[in-house]
Amino acid sequence: MGMLSALKRGLAKTKTVFSASIEAIQGQTAGEDWESLLIATDMGAAFAARVTKQIKAQGGTDKKRGKEILREILIATLLPRQSDFFKDAKMPLVVMVIGVNGTGKTTTIGKIGGMLKNEGYRVMLCAGDTFRSAAKEQLAIWGERNDIPVVSKVAGADPAAVVFEALAKARAEKTDILLVDTAGRLHTKFNLMEELKKIKRVIAKDTQQMKTLLVLDATTGQNAVGQAEAFNDAVGVDGIVLTKLDGSAKGGIIVRIAAELSIPIAYIGVGEGVDDLRSFDARTFVDALLD
Ligand code: GDP
Repeated sequence: MGMLSALKRGLAKTKTVFSASIEAIQGQTAGEDWESLLIATDMGAAFAARVTKQIKAQGGTDKKRGKEILREILIATLLPRQSDFFKDAKMPLVVMVIGVNGTGKTTTIGKIGGMLKNEGYRVMLCAGDTFRSAAKEQLAIWGERNDIPVVSKVAGADPAAVVFEALAKARAEKTDILLVDTAGRLHTKFNLMEELKKIKRVIAKDTQQMKTLLVLDATTGQNAVGQAEAFNDAVGVDGIVLTKLDGSAKGGIIVRIAAELSIPIAYIGVGEGVDDLRSFDARTFVDALLD
């Protein structure tokens, strides 16, 4: 299956809302219809107002023209956030993967690990989520599947201690990229952010070359934006992975993230399989959404 058709399948739920709403737009109320469509798919009120204003000014009631205006603004908004997360990274690199529980951190680490390994990198995983006992087992399965070493300790162990051990092992084994899973109890809990800061300090003591990757769940809609702000304030975010676009009709949240936060979007998740993680490509995304 081609890239575009696979992405279209992944975005099916959001696409359905889009096509049906565009279909229903009537001449008289075109401006308002565009606005409610953009809000309904979680693109955010500010973005919706901006697009609607331009459509009214330029396109008026012409639906086709409206769609082209929307396409142009979408690309202009998303393109600056497109980034190749690992492209210019110096090795050895440590990537701390953060995010609220259930967003898809462990799964995403498994997918990225497999991808990097296929590209020829020496990869190692660290089970830094010692709070949720299933996380360690899940990571072990991904490690086995892709023949990647996983460093872990017993449930309840100090995450910083697991990370410390993984850093030493990664160095000894000349690992290129160490992917660190972390716990994700709700970001409103002060302790989680403190724990992440501590892990970050442990990594920073060991290497200058670290990046943070934040995993956000598209089905949570607007909450994702708040989560991104909270994690960015606490530890800084170098890249975003937006998961579960396949399960959400609110895929437009990616637009709001792009418009409101200046954080690169590295990957999107459109399913649970190993091939369902895609580098974020703004033009392909917009084409998949609108065509
Ligand atoms: P964590 O708590 O953040 O580590 O989340 P998990 O990695 O355990 O993922 C939670 C659930 O989301 C699992 O059932 C995953 O299979 C599922 N999941 C992760 N990414 C995606 C995605 O892109 N699409 C779909 N449909 N499910 C996903």
